[in-house]
Amino acid sequence: MVVGIPKEIKNNESRVGITPAGVFELVKDNHTVYVQKSAGEGSGFSDEDYEGAGAVILDHIEEVYDSSEMIVKVKEPIAEEYDLIKEGQLVFTYFHFASSEPLTKAMIKSKAVCIAYETVEDADGTLPLLTPMSEVAGRLAIQQGAKYLEKPVKGRGVLLGGVPGVAPGKVLVLGAGVVGIQAAKMAAGLGAHVTIMDINMKRLRYVNDVMPPHVVTEFSNEFNIRKHIKTHDLIIGGVLLKGAKAPNLITRDMLKEMRPGTVIVDVAVDQGGCVETTRPTTHEDPVYIIDDVVHYTVANMPGAVPYTSTVALTNVTLPYVLKLAKMGWEKACEKDATLRSGLNIVSGKVVYQELNDAFGW
Ligand code: NAD
Repeated sequence: MVVGIPKEIKNNESRVGITPAGVFELVKDNHTVYVQKSAGEGSGFSDEDYEGAGAVILDHIEEVYDSSEMIVKVKEPIAEEYDLIKEGQLVFTYFHFASSEPLTKAMIKSKAVCIAYETVEDADGTLPLLTPMSEVAGRLAIQQGAKYLEKPVKGRGVLLGGVPGVAPGKVLVLGAGVVGIQAAKMAAGLGAHVTIMDINMKRLRYVNDVMPPHVVTEFSNEFNIRKHIKTHDLIIGGVLLKGAKAPNLITRDMLKEMRPGTVIVDVAVDQGGCVETTRPTTHEDPVYIIDDVVHYTVANMPGAVPYTSTVALTNVTLPYVLKLAKMGWEKACEKDATLRSGLNIVSGKVVYQELNDAFGW
């Protein structure tokens, strides 16, 4: 199959659909891979790296779309890309269709086959192509939180690890899912005292089993949250209710209970956030302050570390890319129920029921 890797043109997107290592595997399987010039630059991969792995570099995005049977990307196509996508072409990327009717209509019109990373679902209900981005965001949340706790950026002036003779900082993690566990692990590694909360006892038992003793589990309810926000320096929001807006576990009035300079990193911002005062921000202007509480609420946190994010994404997408390239989408989806769940739009028809529901079609 001929596989095309265009350069991402969405504002501030430095990730790329595949690494040179992924290209190498495709070429080894006798596929042709076209990579747009400088597509990997933002993630630290040069055109020479791709050529060395067997890719052919093309100068223009139009050439990549025109000559490829399958397009592998990171972000959903933006308006400039809609007309590049051809009838029958397979597009494998994050689409997040439910949040954009224009994109959905454009892909229906294109008559392409759209497989969305975010709906590829394992039999146990986990989302294997979303997990690595939650891992990145969870770990990054502590790095960002530690930075914004510094005084010059209006934080409390607390060093998370403390020093001999001074107690470490305290981190409260809401949600013990992928984001929460990675955040707790990073905070614990820095020496911070960590409280992690969830409503799922299985998750809390797991955390209790695998984490060191300075990571304490507690059941998530309003009483406990109100108690802990008064004493914790950094609060991480990592709550998810599948298919729904995140619950507001921290309401506006609670900010007054926190000490000035407390930092909230609400990773769940992409689902509305688990803090009432959360609104999405960007990497250019990541924080704002309400009632002396610093809010960090960047909606695409993994974009800050494109090298790590690109490699982590290719690690999980590549087995599917190889399968799609080898068998074609129909056979690959027939044989693999996980991949099949990623099918959203096929040749002008929405085949993912939740998407029809989302638009009331
Ligand atoms: P997950 O499903 O692995 O974990 C969510 C956890 O929240 C679950 O363990 C669940 O039991 C728990 N939960 C539900 N209600 C709760 C409550 N009332 N109190 C405490 N815990 C509760 O999800 P995840 O992969 O960790 O993702 C978390 C959020 O982070 C999602 O909204 C995801 O979209 C978002 N995310 C954002 C970025 C970003 O760049 N901002 C990146 C990746 C993920």
